[in-house]
Amino acid sequence: MKKRIIGATLLTVVCALLLSNLVGVLMFRNREMNAARDTLQELLILMDAQSADTDADGLARQFHEAAPGKRLTIIDTDGTVLADTEANPEGLEDHNNRPEVEAASATGWGKAVRRSDTLGTSMLYVAKRFADGMIGRASMPLSSIDSLVVGSLWGFVIASLAAVLLALLLARRTANRVVAPLSAVSQTLQGVLDGTGKPGLEEYQSDDELRPILRYIDKLVERLEGYIQSITDERDKVSLILDCMSEGLILLDESGRVLAINRAARALFGFPEGDEDDGALLLTRSRRLREAILECRKKGAPVVLDVDALTEDARSLRMFLSPVGDRQYEGQAVGTSILISDITELKKAEGIRSEFTANVSHELKTPLTSIKGFTDMLSSGMVASPEDQKRFITMIGVEVDRLIDLINDILKLSELESAAIEQGTERSDALAVAQDTAALLTPAARDGGVTLSVSGLSAEVAVPQSRLKELLLNLMSNGIKYTERGGRVDTTIRLQDNQVCIAVADNGIGIPPEAQGRVFERFYRVDKGRARKNGGTGLGLAIVKHITQLYGGTVTLESEVGKGSTFTVKLPLAQ
Ligand code: ADP
Repeated sequence: MKKRIIGATLLTVVCALLLSNLVGVLMFRNREMNAARDTLQELLILMDAQSADTDADGLARQFHEAAPGKRLTIIDTDGTVLADTEANPEGLEDHNNRPEVEAASATGWGKAVRRSDTLGTSMLYVAKRFADGMIGRASMPLSSIDSLVVGSLWGFVIASLAAVLLALLLARRTANRVVAPLSAVSQTLQGVLDGTGKPGLEEYQSDDELRPILRYIDKLVERLEGYIQSITDERDKVSLILDCMSEGLILLDESGRVLAINRAARALFGFPEGDEDDGALLLTRSRRLREAILECRKKGAPVVLDVDALTEDARSLRMFLSPVGDRQYEGQAVGTSILISDITELKKAEGIRSEFTANVSHELKTPLTSIKGFTDMLSSGMVASPEDQKRFITMIGVEVDRLIDLINDILKLSELESAAIEQGTERSDALAVAQDTAALLTPAARDGGVTLSVSGLSAEVAVPQSRLKELLLNLMSNGIKYTERGGRVDTTIRLQDNQVCIAVADNGIGIPPEAQGRVFERFYRVDKGRARKNGGTGLGLAIVKHITQLYGGTVTLESEVGKGSTFTVKLPLAQ
């Protein structure tokens, strides 16, 4: 547009200049011709005054000297050329037929512009009838006038070039003034498309005609911005909700193609952002899911489906399929929505629970079977001697104690499991509790020939005394149980990175590497026979792990078979 404005302006200016220069040149030439005619006339008037006293040849030569460059001719009344400053009169034909001579004979004066037959060039002629009847003619070549005109042309050309330059500058300025607001409009509209457009055109310097248009565009942009903002807000709100959901959500169209999928579902299936096709592929991999989608659509009712091994890491998923009617997503009809819940942990917990129930039943059954055997033998009268009867009753007592221990540990564990993570105000001194626990276990240690020691710093942990005692009792008694006579169980308390480290180290039988990861599981025992003989329930370390977790701590184990084990519990220092 800018180019067109400049081009049109320049074309107009150039045409106007050409026209005005042409008219100017013609007028200039005309004026010069008139001036030349006047000069020739004056010359002839002077010649006329002298004509009576001087012969024709002398007259012509005299005035030719005074006005060189002019051709002077004296013609007799019969047309004979008497004198000519440019040609020999004898060789010249009758001049009465020359138009200027004819006119001068008739009216006194004659003028003509024509080609000279004698000289062969274009000439300006003026003729006068002298008082004595002869015709005097003065002429000059047109070329002398034309060379004057050509000389003046330079002035026209320079002035025209200056005018064109000026016009170019003015045209550019005008074009900029016209085009700049339009560029601003286009930039603003582009900004609206990119989402960065801001009104502000009204303040733009522009011509009066453009100002209302800019104002309207400003209003339009403002309104559009409002619409876009509200749509963006709405969309952000929805995607925030969808992305914050821990459940996966997939929308399928009526043919089962994935229309939308939220972040949780992508993460579950492990497919990349923006690649809906992968999702479609993955969904069609499960025959059960395909059937469930069909069933949901056919029945028009929700369907719940549990699927394993659909994801790469074989997670257990529960899918709630619901039919969707009359709803559109980005212009496409939605057929089914699938809400996906990761129930891997739930399934694991269910598994652990049922395994625990089986284990508990088994653990309870063993002592009960023994008790039943002993009581059967006693009641059948097979055990006759009072010593044997006493021995049997003592054995029943041992099994009952084992049962009571087992039930107590199960109760403790279930209490710990149902307790929420505690940030209680109760606190206890780890060193003092460790010393108390060691004192409690001194008889057992003495019986087992094991030396117990407690050392280190006094440090408070945010754990109730009873729970810390329970934890230490389990670790220290394990140390005593699984250490040969003459061995040691050393408990040390120290501070590390704002945490209280309680290490219970023994130089007992140790735990093989493959069992080290499992000793914290319920009912797991490395050596069942030995553990049972020692009166272990298989729940001690599970209780230790639960207590440390409940109070934001950790428990680790380092052990080597034949050298001993060190259990390290780290608990946050009470603030
Ligand atoms: P238990 O009541 O059988 O001792 P725990 O849960 O306390 O049950 O321990 C689980 C198993 O870990 C034990 O049966 C034993 O095999 C092993 N264990 C625990 N503490 C020690 C230790 N200090 N040294 C060697 N083995 C141990």
